Amino acid sequence: MARLVVFSLVPEVSDKVEREYIEGFSVDNYNASALRVSHMFFADDTLVFCGAARDQLYHLKGVLLCFEAVSGLRINLGKSEIVLVGPVSDVEDLAHVLGGRTASLPMKYLGLPLGARYKSKEIWNPILEKMERRLAGWKRSYLSKGGRLTLIKSTLSSLSTYFLSLFSIPSSVAHQIEKLQRDFLWGGLGDEFKYHLVNWHAICTPIQQGGLGLRQLIPFNQALLGKWLWRFANERNTYWRQVIACKYGCDRDGWHLKEGRGGHGDWALGEYTDLMAFLYQQKVKRTEADQLRWVCTTSGLFEIRSYYRLLSSQHVSNFPWKSIWQNRVPHKVAFFTWLVAHGKILTIDNLRRRQICVLDWCFMCKRAGESVNHLMLHCEYAQELWSMIFCMFGISWVMPQSTYALLHCWRRKGPAHLIWNAIPSCLMWLLWRERNQRAFEDSERHSAELKLTLLRTLMEWIAAVSRLSFPSVFAFIDDCV
Ligand SMILES: [Zn+2]
Repeated sequence: MARLVVFSLVPEVSDKVEREYIEGFSVDNYNASALRVSHMFFADDTLVFCGAARDQLYHLKGVLLCFEAVSGLRINLGKSEIVLVGPVSDVEDLAHVLGGRTASLPMKYLGLPLGARYKSKEIWNPILEKMERRLAGWKRSYLSKGGRLTLIKSTLSSLSTYFLSLFSIPSSVAHQIEKLQRDFLWGGLGDEFKYHLVNWHAICTPIQQGGLGLRQLIPFNQALLGKWLWRFANERNTYWRQVIACKYGCDRDGWHLKEGRGGHGDWALGEYTDLMAFLYQQKVKRTEADQLRWVCTTSGLFEIRSYYRLLSSQHVSNFPWKSIWQNRVPHKVAFFTWLVAHGKILTIDNLRRRQICVLDWCFMCKRAGESVNHLMLHCEYAQELWSMIFCMFGISWVMPQSTYALLHCWRRKGPAHLIWNAIPSCLMWLLWRERNQRAFEDSERHSAELKLTLLRTLMEWIAAVSRLSFPSVFAFIDDCV
């Protein structure tokens, strides 16, 4: 037994019932004969609920002594706590009986707030603080967008998942967290101003639909809480369900709570009615025994992911995500290609759209009219690179109008096309770097030089992720044909 937590209740509450050795508390305040809870075991802890009376604590001590004698295990009272519920007058006297520390509500238990108001914003403060602290640490180090994205996904999302599966997040807190994530993704070093190139809603759509697959907090929170509604309907005999049903009442078929007993405020009425409305739309087979089935999965079992998809109403779209994310190119390059596909890199036309006063000029062909599609596909300089590729592969190709369309029709299936599939990302990435060299460093390379860099970079990337190795650029070209 790692820890013993004793909850001492106010005597008035327990006076209504006949005195017992260790009284526990009645789940329903209005009905003394309802379900009573005297103790619980959770994780490594034992929680005992008893009245705030000396004799009850002596009884408890007796039970613990018996336990020690029978089991040979010792209870460490130094680790135990007496938690007071409501006003208790002779605290020290009571604490002396057992010898543990005393604490009061609200308190922190296993990292979660206990006894705090359910919808209070304060319970989210530790999460926000933790996030801010981590971000401040990471901000100082240089990270590519790809790296930032991975960090947001792995750490920032998982930080709050535990809380999100138990509490309904206030929308102001959700917005604060999302703002932290947003600023971190687009942010530069320190407080330097950076453009947010793609809006947050687009980022939060799944990768297959052109987003970055980050989760929107509010629907994700609802999906996680939906799991409890599902379990309420299905786990008829579990103790937690009995406690809820006793406190708030249970309706007709026992699948959900009674309405109008004040419990729904806590149970987030919105999600509850949405989920139930959805469930009741489903057809009834009269020959089978009634049971809840989740129609979004083949197993009929509830799945948080599918409920999230339903809540965030994501539609199938035709985004060329495989051409971007399923290539063996570095993550930061894939992120760049994703921006290109959305037409969001900061070319001259995009800067002008953001009211930045710059000369309309293509640094590559030295004429007016820099746009994403011009720079990447139709500029003379770009065309030289593309032509080399088409020659290497021995094909003729009509260049599509946009990078989006190009990515759409480029991809070939199968491992034999590793090199081919990596080409658009690699070529556009190098073009963009060359363009920025010219724009900001005032140095330029001839297209012949960039062609060679393109081949070398492709060789390196392919060799890094496969067993292929190329003794020379010529061997590499031979492999393409
Ligand atoms: Zn040009």
